[in-house]
Amino acid sequence: MRGAIMPDSSNIIAAALAALPHASGRVAPPRVAADGTASVILDVSGLDAVARATLEADVRRVLGAVEGISAVRVVQTAQKPERRLIAIGSGKGGVGKSTLAANLAIALKRLGFRTGLVDADIYGPSQPRLMQATGERPTAEGKTLNPVETRWGVPMLSMGQLVAPDKALAWRGPMVSGALGQLIDAAWGETDTLIVDLPPGTGDIQLSMIQKHRPAGAVIVSTPQDLALIDAARAIDLFNTAGIPIIGLVENMAGYVCPHCGEVSDPFGRGGAEAEAARLGIPFLGRVPLDIAIRRASDAGEPPAARDDAAAEPFLAIAERVAAALNRTAG
Ligand code: ADP
Repeated sequence: MRGAIMPDSSNIIAAALAALPHASGRVAPPRVAADGTASVILDVSGLDAVARATLEADVRRVLGAVEGISAVRVVQTAQKPERRLIAIGSGKGGVGKSTLAANLAIALKRLGFRTGLVDADIYGPSQPRLMQATGERPTAEGKTLNPVETRWGVPMLSMGQLVAPDKALAWRGPMVSGALGQLIDAAWGETDTLIVDLPPGTGDIQLSMIQKHRPAGAVIVSTPQDLALIDAARAIDLFNTAGIPIIGLVENMAGYVCPHCGEVSDPFGRGGAEAEAARLGIPFLGRVPLDIAIRRASDAGEPPAARDDAAAEPFLAIAERVAAALNRTAG
């Protein structure tokens, strides 16, 4: 009976594990085979890669020191967290979809959501710049990526971190869909709400997003002009047809405040998106003015939504409406 476990071993094992506060509630009583091999199931739900590895190493260490245990076998399990995806789309490029996605992620975080940001805009991944995380590369465990932490408290992953943009342009359906899956099924830990910045239009990424990842809802960004709105209506139609709820439409670049004289003008018109939302029967979420300060702050990686002044207000107001819509679906 070499290596046989002593009769009171379960108490010894329990005492050994009790010395690890971070293991509390995560380790079921181990099973010890006749040959002294202890099998442990570790619940690592919500832990990041470092915390998971530390927990496993600590459990191995304390159990390995128990007399009669000759080997420790660990299986990690994790409940798939309830995580909802919000797709941010637009009919065409350059309307401020990425700017809205970054600022909405931060504004929702300020409202108490645990948000993360996925930059799936394969044609112009701009989130690393907007979130001041240029040059940071995610680490990976096997195929699972670990999102990059940002200074705004919103973890992020970007297509731009996986591949150089000029290479990504040549990607076709399955590769694009695989890359999107890698970003969305990454080690998001406690993140409960993932904001996904889609490329403009209605291409492969949108289809993959709709079919494989079923977002809880979509926010569509448009400028007030008719042409942009026609494209936006197409994007809305795609989500509608697939049964993805449209959370609403955001009007960006409405109302230009002249930095010199303060006069408000409307280079792209004003109110077009609100009227279009009414026509399509979808909620209007708010408007963001065309403001050179927004462009400058975005280029500098200082999202206005993180500020404590009026610059954050349009984004916080939009986030409040998005939050209300999410709470309605959750309830
Ligand atoms: P998209 O993701 O739709 O292509 P971006 O978010 O990259 O658009 O925005 C395009 C450009 O417009 C960027 O230079 C951005 O800083 C600028 N921009 C976006 N929204 C505004 C705004 N409300 N006021 C001023 N500049 C803006």
